Amino acid sequence: MKDNLGKLLNFLDEDRVLFDSTSLEKLSKDYYWYSPILKDLLDDKTADCIVKPLNEEEIKEILSLAATKKIPVTVRGAGTGNYGQIIPMNGGIIIDTTKMNNIIEINEGSVRVEPGIKLGIVERRLREQHQELCIYPSTYMKATAGGFVCGGSGGIGSITWGNLWDGNVLELRVLTMEDVPRILTVTGTDMMNYIHGYGTTGVVTEIVLRTTKRKDWVQCIASFEDLEESLKFSETLAKDTSIGKRSISTCEWPIPSYFVPLSKVIEQDKHIVLFEVEEVAFITVKEMVKDFSGNITHEIPSTHYRKGISLSDFTWNHTTLWALKANEQMTYLQGSFSLDSYMEQIYKIKKKFGDEFYNHFDWMRSGGELIPQQIPLVRFKTKERLYEMISYCESIGVKIFDPHTILLEKGGWEAHIHSVLQTKKENDPLGLLNPGKIGITDLKVNS
Ligand code: FAD
Repeated sequence: MKDNLGKLLNFLDEDRVLFDSTSLEKLSKDYYWYSPILKDLLDDKTADCIVKPLNEEEIKEILSLAATKKIPVTVRGAGTGNYGQIIPMNGGIIIDTTKMNNIIEINEGSVRVEPGIKLGIVERRLREQHQELCIYPSTYMKATAGGFVCGGSGGIGSITWGNLWDGNVLELRVLTMEDVPRILTVTGTDMMNYIHGYGTTGVVTEIVLRTTKRKDWVQCIASFEDLEESLKFSETLAKDTSIGKRSISTCEWPIPSYFVPLSKVIEQDKHIVLFEVEEVAFITVKEMVKDFSGNITHEIPSTHYRKGISLSDFTWNHTTLWALKANEQMTYLQGSFSLDSYMEQIYKIKKKFGDEFYNHFDWMRSGGELIPQQIPLVRFKTKERLYEMISYCESIGVKIFDPHTILLEKGGWEAHIHSVLQTKKENDPLGLLNPGKIGITDLKVNS
């Protein structure tokens, strides 16, 4: 295989075609090990070869070759995804996009980039030009634009601007997987066949992201004796549209005890809210914290924004990472609670599962609607116990997006899967792009 592929890929410089076992192992993996179930399933999966194209033309040649020879292709950004999205189920070629890392143009309200650029670099360049990204994941320092769009969902900024599919991606340029790959320009609702599609329907070569006017952000930790008060504060802040905000995350004790670098500003046995608000509103927010019997234990002024540690390093799936560092028996779920009954849902879950389930909310908007979204930490006992927990949550109206599956439709994408599969059949007729990540095969049976 190696000799053959080496010859076939001879249009790329030698140092951009990797076959050594260290690179194959490292670059075939993401953060799938967050899930003990995915760890067992994916530990032994690797690509046969990694390629690092410099431009769209080279990707086109790679895809054309792979289509002709029927070789599976999986695209990789920074490999920070959590669901084994970049792990090739049947070997083949991994296209690593990190050498395609240019900002093509910045306009007011948008930025056009190549897929392999790190979002942290995009954000920095935008802020130099008095703009900023509307949303980005907590992994923005490493994560690529292509990986976020094709594998992520939301993150910092989603409390105001929603998910990727809430207008935060404006245009995609996509290559199809055919003998002669086509170049598509995709906009509007058609983008739903590519956003969060794990690269199963095409290879994205350019992205236009929505941007907004740069603001001065203060980061803060507020501490609460009572979990309910911490949640009521979070909800009130989230609902107040007069206050500019980038994030609100609520963590039940003992989650704050896992945040080792923050230990000096964390109070024993207290629940905390980590938030990022506009500097001009900070006095109002401080009063709001007091109204809910909270206490501010840490402030990072706007002058120190992105200098040193950021509080976003403890939110979204970073929260899980700190818990995993502290106790390897932990894993996580992802769920949308109901705004009108989330407190009741929490009490029911706590009553049934006690300290097997710790609440961690990242408040967000989806389609404009405020959602108490959770990435709770759960103690892993067995797969059966984990799925018992998922069934119970769903029985009380909590929508779970299962992070312990590689299948798009089982991980919360069931509403879009037929349209994604239709697009895959058009763009990738031989089913060579990231095979194994869509479970359904027949549109007629399942539609
Ligand atoms: P990768 O993992 O490399 O790829 C993700 C998917 O996109 C894969 O299926 C890949 O095949 C596909 N892909 C990549 N590039 C292309 C392309 N050019 N064309 C077609 N398909 C492509 N996610 C969030 O949404 N929000 C968060 O706040 C968040 N926080 C996280 C915190 C931690 C600690 C960790 C480990 C993960 C977190 N994630 C989060 C998941 C992940 O970090 C993000 O989704 C990130 O944006 C993925 O970017 P990446 O470059 O690492 O993508």
